[in-house]
Amino acid sequence: MVDPVRLRERMVREQIEARGIADRRVLDAMRSLPRHKFVEEALASKAYSDGPLPIGQGQTISQPYIVALMSELLRAEPGMKVLEIGTGSGYQAAVLAHMGCDVYTVERIKPLFFAARKRFMDMRFFSIKLKLDDGTMGWPDESPFDRIIVTAGGPEVPEPLVAQLADPGRMLIPVGQGKRLQSLVLIEKNAGEVTRIDKGDVAFVDLVGKHGW
Ligand code: SAH
Repeated sequence: MVDPVRLRERMVREQIEARGIADRRVLDAMRSLPRHKFVEEALASKAYSDGPLPIGQGQTISQPYIVALMSELLRAEPGMKVLEIGTGSGYQAAVLAHMGCDVYTVERIKPLFFAARKRFMDMRFFSIKLKLDDGTMGWPDESPFDRIIVTAGGPEVPEPLVAQLADPGRMLIPVGQGKRLQSLVLIEKNAGEVTRIDKGDVAFVDLVGKHGW
């Protein structure tokens, strides 16, 4: 495999900065994190390519640009409490942790949960909290969250997540009636009011659960 540092540098320059992402903390995180360690060894050489990759169990690690876009749109500040639904490989959670956020992440598929937990330990991300559960129910004991990021797409916005969002708070979630094609919805809570803004089309794996498919 070509030097991962150079591959990452190129990924950030050509796929992320070139498409308008400018958040310093997002760019730093994606320049630093060994994305190739978040996929199976056989796929490591493709880890910095411009697309999603399979991580087993029919799931995927998101395209680098989508991770960058969501991380920027979230406007997560260091020290903020952030809930992620859909740990998957753990890459998005690690990006947020590298940005200084206090990350809570929920995954429903056991082998992915254990693989992500091992990765966090190996990479010394001791501060990331993980839970094996249906994330459409949120993480009530730890709420409220300043930020919520859902990295799987469902037919509606799960009500428990809106309830567990802090005020002020910001949430990003792919929502769509068709499977694997959604709108990325930004939800803002401010002074008791909840607003929704459409941020464009995305394609995520299904959000499966009580408030999902
Ligand atoms: N953020 C991940 C992307 C993983 S793909 C990464 O950086 O790699 C989406 C993940 O959401 C899958 O692992 C899938 O199992 C998980 N998922 C789907 N529905 C879920 C639910 N209700 N609760 C928790 N995880 C869920």
